[in-house]
Amino acid sequence: MPENLDQFEIAVAQIRKSAQILKLDSGMVDILTKPKRELTVNFPVRLDDGTVKVFTGYRVQYNYSRGPCKGGVRFHPNVSLNEVRALAAWMTWKTAVMNLPYGGAKGGVIVDPKKLSRDELERLTRRYTSEISIIIGPEKDIPAPDVYTDSQTMAWMMDTFSMIKGYSVPGVVTGKPLSIGGSEGRGEATARGAMYVARAAAKTRGIDTGKATVAVQGFGNAGSIGARLFHEELGSKVVAVSDSKGGVYNPNGLNIPELLIHKEKTGSVANFQGSKAISNEELLQLDVDILVPAALENQITEKNASAVKAKMVVEEANGPTTPKADEILHKNGVLLLPDILANAGGVTVSYFEWVQDMQSFFWSLEEVNNKLESLITKAYNDILPISQKENIDMRTAAYVYAVKKVVDAHKIRGLWP
Ligand code: NAD
Repeated sequence: MPENLDQFEIAVAQIRKSAQILKLDSGMVDILTKPKRELTVNFPVRLDDGTVKVFTGYRVQYNYSRGPCKGGVRFHPNVSLNEVRALAAWMTWKTAVMNLPYGGAKGGVIVDPKKLSRDELERLTRRYTSEISIIIGPEKDIPAPDVYTDSQTMAWMMDTFSMIKGYSVPGVVTGKPLSIGGSEGRGEATARGAMYVARAAAKTRGIDTGKATVAVQGFGNAGSIGARLFHEELGSKVVAVSDSKGGVYNPNGLNIPELLIHKEKTGSVANFQGSKAISNEELLQLDVDILVPAALENQITEKNASAVKAKMVVEEANGPTTPKADEILHKNGVLLLPDILANAGGVTVSYFEWVQDMQSFFWSLEEVNNKLESLITKAYNDILPISQKENIDMRTAAYVYAVKKVVDAHKIRGLWP
């Protein structure tokens, strides 16, 4: 039977696996495997040619037993309710892994943003924000950027929500520009967090990051900054990167600063001077020390997992590895640092941004990075012994750690009425 690639069913399977280890009763498993609240909005947007098009968007609040919901907004043609549900579930475990006082949520709009003008994108963002404004807010649910949304999108969201309220509400979204209450370090936080976790894990595994070879799939916010940080801060040799238009490979190491300029100029990493073209499939199977999936879900599956030669997989993307692939990698001795830990730097600095907005008192870049490093390294150091003691992979250990925190919150709060 072919592997089930439905995102939400994968998310539920991951919860059930940790629930078994934690010996949770069926009522609690029922609570944990269902989203708390889901909103679907169909909303009209006027296009530049004067015609009107209706778009569909979602906001799913998966669980808020530990605090307000938190999670990004994705603009992509493949967005679906089940994908948003899965991403919202993962946010619940991610905030718990990092000990942030948040629940999990996610939003998305079915749209190809590359086909819209900037004005159309602004109108779409503003109308989507007004449609979901009934359930978001600094104490309720705080959106942030995700695939194909950025700090400009967040500025439009913050402005729209503030216009509805009649006063400025910077704490309603994170990932904003600095000039309206953004945080130092938020732009590179996801990749920086992944780098800190990779560095800690490499030490445990005896991998010298100064000599390590790295391949990165995806060259957006997470992937391009990830490649730069591995290159600049760890001195690793980044030999391959890719984006939606193709990949490039140089066994002697790619010149990352020049590649960033090339991507800026041409819109893609493809055709970078001094490199060989490589497909995404080939990139995943390269003989490198560290593989960093930083694009979309379901990239490492039962079909290609046994061909992965990397010693370590660092999931900057959400959900890039399927449960069957997890088993194969674990059996083959590949150390996988799961998304809910490896890419939690983004939501952690988002939390710092929200805290700074709420107290209207802002921190230096050094302060932000130091706090991020200490929180994410602590999470890694807490999860590693669970994986060793229970003899389970790092994803399952991270789930056991996170799910227990959410369960404890449910139990101590009790069931109303
Ligand atoms: P982004 O839009 O900035 O970049 C996405 C990148 O993936 C682009 O380079 C795109 O060309 C590439 N891509 C798309 N389809 C591809 C394919 N089939 N093969 C190879 N590359 C492909 O998005 P992002 O913010 O960097 O997010 C990437 C992943 O990281 C997502 O899974 C997202 O959920 C996750 N993530 C992002 C953040 C954040 O703060 N931005 C935080 C946590 C997790």
